[in-house]
Amino acid sequence: MIKIIPKNIALLGSTGSIGANCLRVVSEHPEHFRISYLSAHSNSHRLFEQCEKFKPKAAIITDPAIFKTDHQLFTKDLPVLSGSEGLLAIFQDPAVDLVVNAIVGGAGVYPTYQALRSGKAVALANKESLVVAGQLIMKLVREKKLTLLPIDSEHSAIFQCLLGENPEQVRRIILTASGGPFRSLSVNQLKEVTPRQALAHPTWNMGTKITIDSATLMNKGLEIIEAYWLYGVPLDRIQVVIHPQSIIHSMVEFVDGSVKAQLGYPDMRIPIQFALTFPRRLPLEISHIDFKQLHSLTFEEPDFQKFPCLGIAMEAIRSGGSIPAVMNAANEIAVIRFVKGEIKFSDIPVVIDKTLQAHQSYREFTLEQILEIQGWARDFAGKI
Ligand code: NAD
Ligand code: MG
Repeated sequence: MIKIIPKNIALLGSTGSIGANCLRVVSEHPEHFRISYLSAHSNSHRLFEQCEKFKPKAAIITDPAIFKTDHQLFTKDLPVLSGSEGLLAIFQDPAVDLVVNAIVGGAGVYPTYQALRSGKAVALANKESLVVAGQLIMKLVREKKLTLLPIDSEHSAIFQCLLGENPEQVRRIILTASGGPFRSLSVNQLKEVTPRQALAHPTWNMGTKITIDSATLMNKGLEIIEAYWLYGVPLDRIQVVIHPQSIIHSMVEFVDGSVKAQLGYPDMRIPIQFALTFPRRLPLEISHIDFKQLHSLTFEEPDFQKFPCLGIAMEAIRSGGSIPAVMNAANEIAVIRFVKGEIKFSDIPVVIDKTLQAHQSYREFTLEQILEIQGWARDFAGKI
């Protein structure tokens, strides 16, 4: 019998959709994984329940106000740390084997960067890390030969298609997109959609921000940027195709015309588990694709007129420098304002555009500088 040494995992953003799915994967393989740290921003009660079940070394609450009021929920056996204290504990703990970043939005950038700087392997759900600081993060990964594993389903698909291949022989990356709930609405109908309609995603069950990003197609824009940084493929060779069934999670075409695709039932536990077990696989109890029931897999061109956010993101990464970070921050605020009912769905790209117009872009920056720019963009977008 081979002795299994469990992997020690620090899970950031454990109370979210990816966080919960990650814990489901961990529960299925208690002999393979151990939870060392769990973090949440404000849902301290959920965090506490998770801690009771998974018994980490410490819990982390990142919202300072919630930390102040709710730290007494936790006991001596279960220490609770503030955000900065918590990150330090994780990165200085030599026992932590893998940091899973399932935080939503620009708040995830600093933890990704610092985890890598401390030499930790990172499994990344937080695509915003690469959108905001892709050049800094990938430089670190290359220089220190670090492990950065994708959790996003498309990027996991590409990663799986590339296994055993020569990256120089890639002709195209084809990212699939479900098209979101508004694929067949007209430009006029799109003006009137409500947050409730936008939150009803046809194929995936996810957190609020990414669900709205899927409805505007900004999510696919962020994913082009994520793929660009992860796989180093030139932008004109990364394409998007709408595939409403969400069965093919993405494809890679090679120089000889051969195309590899990764398929699976749309369930985030598959890419999460693969990031946790790589380079191996473990069994997972999950719905199987019934090919006899799957009458067709269909593909369409994305409509850039109806979904301007996709074009905005493509333009932002072509321009490069600090522009994707500003776009990302403005989008995050626009999404919050749409969900609150302050602006219309069709105002989301307008807020992003106006913020971008007010920004003087920088080619090079440090992490501190790009986070400062992100803060400026959030403030600006909040006032439009
Ligand atoms: P979510 O909103 O469900 O959960 C977000 C988590 O982040 C929560 O645990 C919350 O406590 C924490 N958080 C929120 N604000 C924070 C802050 N300021 N500082 C620290 N922590 C904070 O989000 P989600 O849908 O799980 O998505 C998480 C990330 O994974 C996003 O970047 C998203 O794009 C990506 N992703 C999600 C899915 C999915 O199926 N949900 C799929 C692919 C990629
Ligand atoms: Mg995705």
